[in-house]
Amino acid sequence: MVGMDRLTADLHALCEFGRNEAGGWTRPAYSQVDQDAHLWLASRMEQAGLATRFDGAGNLIGRLEAQPGGTQDGALVIGSHIDTVPRGGWLDGALGVLAGLEVARRLLESRAKRTRPFEVIAFRDEEGRFGPFTGSRAMTGKLDLTLLPTMRDVDGLYLSQALTGSSLSTTTFATAAIPVGAISAYLELHIEQGPVLEAAGKRIGVVSAIVGQARFSLQFQGRPDHAGTTPMNLRRDAFAAAADFASHWRKMIMAEGKGVAVGTVGVVRVEPNAGNVVPSKVTLGAELRDIDDLRLNRLTELTGDLARHSAQDLGVEVSLRVTHRTQPALMNGSFQAAILDCAIRRAYASMTLPSGAGHDAQNFADLVPAAMIFVPSIGGRSHCPEEATDAADLDAGLNILLDVAAGYLST
Ligand SMILES: [Zn+2]
Repeated sequence: MVGMDRLTADLHALCEFGRNEAGGWTRPAYSQVDQDAHLWLASRMEQAGLATRFDGAGNLIGRLEAQPGGTQDGALVIGSHIDTVPRGGWLDGALGVLAGLEVARRLLESRAKRTRPFEVIAFRDEEGRFGPFTGSRAMTGKLDLTLLPTMRDVDGLYLSQALTGSSLSTTTFATAAIPVGAISAYLELHIEQGPVLEAAGKRIGVVSAIVGQARFSLQFQGRPDHAGTTPMNLRRDAFAAAADFASHWRKMIMAEGKGVAVGTVGVVRVEPNAGNVVPSKVTLGAELRDIDDLRLNRLTELTGDLARHSAQDLGVEVSLRVTHRTQPALMNGSFQAAILDCAIRRAYASMTLPSGAGHDAQNFADLVPAAMIFVPSIGGRSHCPEEATDAADLDAGLNILLDVAAGYLST
């Protein structure tokens, strides 16, 4: 069995961990099934000839040393994750890790030149059961270690409780941070998880940047009144103001976001939420994503302006709080050019696009040259049991990952 067949076999073997009777896969980070899957993966890495170890955050690292005469530092890393969201798909994260393993096999078989070490890494908790990107943030020194004892999942289970019985504890995480120079570049192959590549008829996506995010909480404060006796012009209707804002906000993003920025009001809480009472208070949870940090700042400013405008029009008060802000992570230009080049040589239709979802790659982008390769998601579906990618597209993604990795390692 070679190449694509081995990758497909590994993907199917991993499907035996956390398969849901009702469809989909559930491998929550640091759960028993997640641990079992990582142990299986470690044995697959060993069989392929990689030296394996788990770091203090539980990240699994499979390593090939450079050939004689090469360096010991500055490893090329291919990384992703094998944890899933509840009832998620079989390719999200798993493709990147198992394709990395297949790249390692092919490098060994072809005796390709390797002037530096090569590592395949499965990062823990990419899906953020206990916090976003727990594993890759621990490795890149971006995890606030003082918060570890307070980290809980949605059911209230503490990370420390989930780690009970394993060799990990919240104190071992400090040892996961890698020294400067230990790695020199980062690559990640991932399914797109959106509909853009499929709609454009492209096989390979070159990621330009991973979006930055701004999340807000907006509170519109009006006055509760009788819904039958209070004339329209004498109301201080918090929902009317919130709805007016949401409508104008959407148009503003479409006008100012240059087709790149996206904005979502995903949370609406109405008080008292009764049919015969004029709403006195509405809380909106909203988020903006963009690859341009300056534009993200400007859209945030305009968000405040629009909220105040709608509030004033409807006679209510409004307050806006930014609850979360991350910078966009730009992907390395040389790697982007190399990916495009490899796609042309293999005659794969390709395009450049931003990633609207977060990935482990974003934690490496400010430390070393980092790049991401996307393959199409059928129907744009992901984080669901229906998640799928055409076999020919999986093959294309693997080939490009191999080309770029082999090219980098040979110099
Ligand atoms: Zn993922």
